[in-house]
This record gives sequence, C-alpha cells and structure tokens, in this order.
Amino acid sequence: MIKQNLHTHSIYCDGQDTIDEMVEMAIAKKFTVLGFSSHGPNEPNDDYSLPAEFLASYIQDVHRAKQKYADKIKIYLGIEQDALGQRFDHSIFDYIIGSVHMVCDGKNYLPIDSSKQLTLKIIAEGYGGDFLAFTQSYLKEMQKLIDDPQVDIIGHFDLIQKFNEDQSMIAFDDPIYLKMCHDALDLIIANDKIIEVNTGAIARGYRKSPYPDVNLLRYIAKKKGMICLNSDCHDRHYLDCYYDESLELIKECGFTHLLIMHDDGFKKTAI
Ligand SMILES: [Zn+2]
Ligand SMILES: [Zn+2]
Repeated sequence: MIKQNLHTHSIYCDGQDTIDEMVEMAIAKKFTVLGFSSHGPNEPNDDYSLPAEFLASYIQDVHRAKQKYADKIKIYLGIEQDALGQRFDHSIFDYIIGSVHMVCDGKNYLPIDSSKQLTLKIIAEGYGGDFLAFTQSYLKEMQKLIDDPQVDIIGHFDLIQKFNEDQSMIAFDDPIYLKMCHDALDLIIANDKIIEVNTGAIARGYRKSPYPDVNLLRYIAKKKGMICLNSDCHDRHYLDCYYDESLELIKECGFTHLLIMHDDGFKKTAI
C-alpha cells in the first residue's frame, strides 16, 4: 500500500524537526513516499520561510537523505512556493507546491493564516467586512500560481477558511463564494495542476476537516480534478494526522485515484 506525504516542513523553515527525524518517523509510520517542501524564500514578506542563504543546504540535505534511506523510503525534494515569493526553475526540484499565504488589501500584503483576530481585522479594515471581496483578493493571488507552469500542486486551496469552521464569517455553501471557488478550481483543473487535500490545520487544532471543504471536494471529484493527500506537517508526530479519515472522505466524495510521485513524475493510483 502506497502512503505518501509531499507537504512537510523542517527546521530549514518553520518546522520543528530535522530532515532525518522526519524521515525516521515516516518510516516508522509506514510511509512509502516522503517529500520535503520548505517554504521558499519570501523575504521581506514573512519570517517563517527558508532564508535564501539556506536554500543550498536544504537541497543538499534532502539529496543526502535520499541516498541514506534509499532502501527504506522514496524521498523527493520539493518547495512550497508562495505566490509572492521567489520563483524557481523546476529542474532543481522534483515538484513545486504553489500556495497563497497573504492577501493585498490595496496597500499591504497581510498573512491570512496567522490568527483569527488578524484575519477578522484584515477583512474588516481591508475589505469593509466583505468576506467575498477578501475571497476575490485571495483568488487573485492564486491566479499567479495557476498561471505558473512550474507549479505542480496547489496547496491548501481554501486557506481563507482556516478560522471559519463555525461559519461565522461566511457559510460554506454561500452561492457566490462557491461560484468564485468553482471558477478558480476549473482553471486549476484546466491547467492540469494537482489539488492537495491538506490536513495541516487539524493537527494544529484549528479545524476538524481538511482543506478543501467537502462542498469543494465534491465539485473537484465531479470535474475529474486530480488530488493528492498531504498533512502540511510541521511536527513529525503528526505526519499522518487525519489520513485514514481523509481517505474515507475522499472516497465518499467520489474520487477513485490519488496522484503519487514517482522518479519519472506523478502517476494516478487507485485508492
Ligand atoms: Zn502553506
Ligand atoms: Zn506548508
């Protein structure tokens, strides 16, 4: 049975563990494929990304681990490229995840996944309290990643919902919100990009279900979109957090395949 996680962070950015600690836990948890995806350099916008001067060491360290653990697990080198951050030549990496972590309220770029309080402030002050205008601004940033041929996977598609599990900011099935998301998902699918099912916010206690929301997952399944399952891991103990439950949910939504990384690229694999 293939068990894969391509979205993991280590001490090179904002993760807690070394590359080896992550690999050893992945082997213990019976993963067969593990990818590293440090936040790509994004100065001066944030302080959690990989500093540019550490990029070469990060790449070297993952390549070293690939060799060291070759008989136990497949390791791949990735990067989580912020919509605002440094762009990369794909040939350096096995895969690239494209993610939006910040929106521009007209003046400044602000983080949307930092705290509920800050997200509410951004919506109130930057978008006149209008969640739909906030969504539009977020999806405008995502467009940069959808248009980027180097990006393989779109990370946490609806990160804007991180602090809205109680639906106090907007209902998950708000028709205008859904239409905006559907239009963006159509473009992602038309551009042959993989959409990740991301359990990261569950491990950190912010949500009880993965991104994207179940309404969107059903839509992606109906449109025959490609998905992979990742935990956006920042602490090795949560490498497979909510994996079994997410697999059930994925199947329930109508998916029959996940995309799995191989030496010669991604392949569809029956669940
Ligand atoms: Zn991210
Ligand atoms: Zn991440």
